[in-house]
This record gives sequence, C-alpha cells and structure tokens, in this order.
Amino acid sequence: MRLIRTSLIVLVLLGAAWFAVRYVWEILPIYIYSEPAVGDINASQIPVLMYHKISPDPKSGGFGTRVTPARFNLQMQYLAKNGYHTVQLTELADFIKEDKTLPPKSIVITCDDGYLDNYKYAFPILKKYGFTATVFVVADYIGKTNDFDVEKGLQPVNQLLGWNEIDQMSDYGITIGAHTLSHVSLTDVTLPEARYEIENCKLVLEKHLGTSVEAFAYPYGHYNGQLEETVKESGYTIAVTTDQGLVTPRSDPYAIKRVRIRGDYNLRKFIDEFRNTRT
Ligand SMILES: [Zn+2]
Repeated sequence: MRLIRTSLIVLVLLGAAWFAVRYVWEILPIYIYSEPAVGDINASQIPVLMYHKISPDPKSGGFGTRVTPARFNLQMQYLAKNGYHTVQLTELADFIKEDKTLPPKSIVITCDDGYLDNYKYAFPILKKYGFTATVFVVADYIGKTNDFDVEKGLQPVNQLLGWNEIDQMSDYGITIGAHTLSHVSLTDVTLPEARYEIENCKLVLEKHLGTSVEAFAYPYGHYNGQLEETVKESGYTIAVTTDQGLVTPRSDPYAIKRVRIRGDYNLRKFIDEFRNTRT
C-alpha cells in the first residue's frame, strides 16, 4: 500500500516537473530575449507571417500547416508586448510601389485557405491584441470542406469558413484575400483557365463583401511571370507566394515572400524566423 502511494506521488511529481520544464521552455524567451531598440530595427524589411490552421486538434493536420491556439497566442502576445503592430497587405503594396515608409516593427499576418479554425481560435486572439490579418479564401469552397486538398491526399478533412464568419471578420478589419475559385495549382492549367480562376475569385468575393479585394495568394505557392501579369491585369495590387524571405521596397509586389510559421516552432524559433529571414 505504501509502495503504491509513494509511486503515485513520484509519478505526480515527475508529471509536474515535465509540465514545468515545457512551460518554461515555451515562455522563457518572452523574458530573456532582448528586443532591439526601435531605432535599431531595419524598418525597410517587413516580415509577412504565413499561417494556415490555428487549431488544437491533431486530427486536423500536422505541424507543417497547423499552429496550436496556445502557441499562436504566445506569438501574438510577444509581438504586442514588444511594440510590433500589424499592417495590411494593401499598405505593404503602397510601401513598395510608392516608396512610402512604414513605422519600425511593422508586421503582416496572413492565413491561407480560410479554415473555420481561423474564426474560432485565431480571430479572438487577434482581437485581444488589436491585431489585423489577411485571410485568403477559396471562393467556390466557402462554407464547405477542403476537398481540394483531401482528394490529393495532402490534408485531412477540415471545415472552411462560411460567409457568416467571413463577414464578421471583415467587419472587424480582417482583410479577405483571394486564393482562386478552386485552389488549383495555376502553373498546371492553361493561362485562360488560370485567368478565369484569378478574375472570378475576385468578383465573387467583391460581390458579397461590397468592398474591393486587392490581395491574392497563389495556391501551393506556384506562380510564374505570366501569372504575375495576369494577377496584375485582374486588378489586384499585391500577391503573396510561399517563398521564404522579408519584404523590402525593392520587392516584386506580385511575388511577395513570406515567413512560414510551423506548429513545432517554440517562441524562440518563431522570433528567429521573422527577425533573421534573409531577403
Ligand atoms: Zn492554399
């Protein structure tokens, strides 16, 4: 009996120690990482963070495209605590094209594919810190599931945002961006087919939202010069890729680089990624 009790106590203590170590490992960088002074930040290099799912559910996908809400919250808390502020992608277009300066510690947050979890988990966290973001939605799949990736065996089934959630996020100030009608790889279809996807996604979103949709994201990050031209001709002012890097006034506004945030990054890795990513 005594042995069982001692074993139980040891187990509980070991468990507590494990959680303590994990917790400290996760949040320590908030306190020990020295933030550079605002004057030392290179204001001409803007990170555009790339997320997909913000979900606690391991069944919704691996850490390549899923960040837990707890980690997302810590990341946003870090940014807010250290004086970062979010800017819209459209402001970034002006920064590039018109050489407008942005304040130091400007950062852009983007989420691809329009998963419902963006509304459930990311939206309240963004609101808590007064942050904005751009969510790229797939126009023909609004209110549906992500069959475009499920059929290819790339992702488990996930519910996508419906118009109701999109409206609420848009009303708050989240930018709704275009991610084609059907999430097709644009380099795998003819140019007229690509044009149809690019143009009509914009039309569908604008018709519903009643505002102009200016930001575009290439599905799977697949793009080329012709597609860039088509996106431009379709009336978008900025387009993002999955190429890794920061944005400078010399960046191509139709091939914007981003900083991928994976779900297995602890806070220190998160900070390193957006601070040190080479342009
Ligand atoms: Zn996508």
